[in-house]
Amino acid sequence: MSRREPDTAYIAYPQNTIRIIQSHEFQFLKKFGQNFLIDLHVLDKIVKAADIQPDDVVIEIGPGIGSLTQVVAEEAGRVIAVEIDKRLIPILEQNLAAYRNVTLVQADFLKLDLPEFLKEQQVDRPIKVIANLPYYITTPIIMMLFESGIPLESVTVMVQEEVAERMQAGPGTKDYGALSLAVQYYAEAYIAAYVPQNCFMPRPGVGSAVIRLRRYAHPPVQVEDEKLLFGLIRAAFGQRRKTLVNSVSHDAALGLDKETLLEALRQMGLSETIRGEALDLKQFAELTRILQEARHG
Ligand code: SAM
Repeated sequence: MSRREPDTAYIAYPQNTIRIIQSHEFQFLKKFGQNFLIDLHVLDKIVKAADIQPDDVVIEIGPGIGSLTQVVAEEAGRVIAVEIDKRLIPILEQNLAAYRNVTLVQADFLKLDLPEFLKEQQVDRPIKVIANLPYYITTPIIMMLFESGIPLESVTVMVQEEVAERMQAGPGTKDYGALSLAVQYYAEAYIAAYVPQNCFMPRPGVGSAVIRLRRYAHPPVQVEDEKLLFGLIRAAFGQRRKTLVNSVSHDAALGLDKETLLEALRQMGLSETIRGEALDLKQFAELTRILQEARHG
């Protein structure tokens, strides 16, 4: 991948970003997590990690003033950019006027019915998602993308450094949690770059990282009851300091008593006092299968 124009032709070129912000008298809104990228090398890294090809359909969440949209539009067949902030739509229209393969949509991405949205947009192939995400909605967005059942090839996103590490973490580390297991069930996670604060305007309070999640054709573990698997994971990490048996048996929605759980742990050869954070994805899947059988008598 190589950009087609000199640096000064890009929205993310710092002087251009400043000019756009000033000429529109744009005020950044914290509630929308507005930290725009002003480093072209970082944009290149995102595009490279996402492996954008000429026939790709890319969905971008939160295009801002179009910094990332522009470089992706140079590589992809089509880009559908969904922005919540109405004030940014005329700015985006102006900045991206030369890119005929960009569709701008004003909406809260979290409120979209994704299968319906893809139908409306006449998308008939697996999509790639890219974003420099507002940090407070990272987890719901990632979960929504994987759980919606849409044909999804990969998700390449800028997230808080700590969250990127959580997605990759394994048992026994402080970062390991429900998000690690959910991501690892659906996708292969790879941190493509660490990005310092000075690559954004305004600077965020924390370091960031670009993570690529490549969706598995088949999850690495097989369970019939995905709902039970994720229910167990949520319960186990909701009460991290408690034993697995205590935290899961206290979750009324799961309806599992202590004796059933203890018997399952015995079958798996695990200690009765084990905590959820000690189990890996394979063990959670095995526990799910045993408990599912127990439930059905
Ligand atoms: N992509 C741009 C860039 O890299 O410079 C902007 C990234 S900025 C971190 C996040 C963007 O997401 C903002 O433009 C913000 O308005 C938008 N946004 C926030 N919440 C959103 C939501 N629920 N749906 C769609 N866009 C959202």
